Amino acid sequence: MAQIDGLPPLREVITTHGLAAKKSLGQNFLLDLNLTARIARIPGDLSGADVLEVGPGPGGLTRGLLANGARRVLAIEKDARCLPALAEIAAAYPGKLEVIEGDALEINALAHLSSPIHVVANLPYNVGTELLIRWLTPASWPPFWQSLTLMFQKEVAERITAEPGSKAYGRLAVLAQWKCEAHIALRLPPEAFTPPPKVSSAVVHLKPRPAPLFQAPEALLTQVVAQAFNQRRKMLRASLKGMHPEIETLLTEAGIAPTRRAETLSIEEFATLTRTIAAARQP
Ligand code: SAM
Repeated sequence: MAQIDGLPPLREVITTHGLAAKKSLGQNFLLDLNLTARIARIPGDLSGADVLEVGPGPGGLTRGLLANGARRVLAIEKDARCLPALAEIAAAYPGKLEVIEGDALEINALAHLSSPIHVVANLPYNVGTELLIRWLTPASWPPFWQSLTLMFQKEVAERITAEPGSKAYGRLAVLAQWKCEAHIALRLPPEAFTPPPKVSSAVVHLKPRPAPLFQAPEALLTQVVAQAFNQRRKMLRASLKGMHPEIETLLTEAGIAPTRRAETLSIEEFATLTRTIAAARQP
């Protein structure tokens, strides 16, 4: 294995610091530093940027980010056992790594970061999805981040990047792609992790669009998409009944056959339909 820094190999770090993986914290570690360096290169040049890393664990990805020249890394880790290992990395990169112990869902990371900011994380998938939704729905757009590079279970990664007409296409795809360009940057088999999880994983890279792809009021769009996919097998005239008493007419007005199903609608069609419903609701 090629050296990416002068620090000890991750297996040694784990033994030295007694970091047996805890299932309750979704700990599946990446111990191959070539692989973590590859993931760290996905956001591009980090030399003039701060990086928010969530869930650094023993620090494999953190080391990749620092070796890739990140201006600064802010790492938020819930497991206090990892802090001594992370402190060793901080000592090897003076002034470049700040570690905060805590729950990423509760910490205001922004207070510790300066623009431009990239987010990189290999997290338990439930925390990752929750954070992704928060990062996609800030009070204003464009968001504070220049890119998100996030590891998910393969199935979740496919739901984020899915095209209309596919089984994976749903709320997550519409929300993510309405606001971002999203693609799967890397696929990883379970064996890439220690211990190996049950399923394959994939890294999704998201770059914010300057503005959402098609204009529509966000709160209503979110409702329309949620209703439509809640009963994804039903025709839209049935699944969207609760949105407006004249939904069938409004669907036709928006150029969408009322007999179509949610998964066949493009993001543009969801936006057009949302605008049509919003207009019809105006007193
Ligand atoms: N980034 C490391 C790697 O790639 O080897 C560790 C990945 S492991 C899948 C997930 C990490 O997230 C663990 O270190 C775990 O303790 C941490 N974690 C879990 N929930 C967290 C939360 N809510 N906030 C911050 N860290 C969390």
